[in-house]
Amino acid sequence: MKLILLGAPGAGKGTVAKLLTAIDGSVQISTGDILRGAVQAGTELGKEAEEYMKRGDLVPDSLIMGIMEKRLQEPDCEKGFLLDGFPRTIPQAEELKKLLERLGITLDKAVNIDVPREVILDRLCTRRTCENPECQAIYNVKSNPPKQEGICDKCGARVVQREDETEEAISHRLATYNEKTAPLIGFYEKEGLLLNVEAVSSDAVIEAIRKELGL
Ligand code: AMP
Repeated sequence: MKLILLGAPGAGKGTVAKLLTAIDGSVQISTGDILRGAVQAGTELGKEAEEYMKRGDLVPDSLIMGIMEKRLQEPDCEKGFLLDGFPRTIPQAEELKKLLERLGITLDKAVNIDVPREVILDRLCTRRTCENPECQAIYNVKSNPPKQEGICDKCGARVVQREDETEEAISHRLATYNEKTAPLIGFYEKEGLLLNVEAVSSDAVIEAIRKELGL
């Protein structure tokens, strides 16, 4: 399947993407994971992106489009892909449309995961992430803690609170979402691609997607 996952930070895009990969081997492409990996590895890309990310600002569109143009042409995307955290702005969505046309790729849907703000805030404050750039598994101190406190079940690396998940950075990220990313819902509605799912549990989101795509 070839999907865009839309939704505020903390809506569950990453969790839903991971569950969807198990259905048909589509790959999860998370621009946030790619950027965090680059920051940890200290690459040029990471150095450029780091300050924006710490503040909870979006990194420049040109940087993101460079990453995505390469990533979408890697062979593992042939089976399908789940875009998690991209596009984030109208210019990114317009560029993506042109890029997909050029590559001869047709999207199935843009799925908007619509979760109430109180749930989002609670989730982001309690979310913890594996610091291993290759893993980046997601936990929640209340609803899904690692078996051993602070240690990733999957790879044994440390599980930490992301630097952009302080209260200040979170409220900034949510404001950025409302201003820059929420307009994408209207964009994809006009394109005839929007699937809006109002659901708090990831399983309910998966069910809605399966039903829509007949999987
Ligand atoms: P995420 O893990 O998706 O919440 O992304 C973490 C941070 O990476 C965001 O707050 C942005 O600073 C940056 N980022 C991720 N994806 C994008 C994107 N498509 N456009 C701009 N910045 C992004």
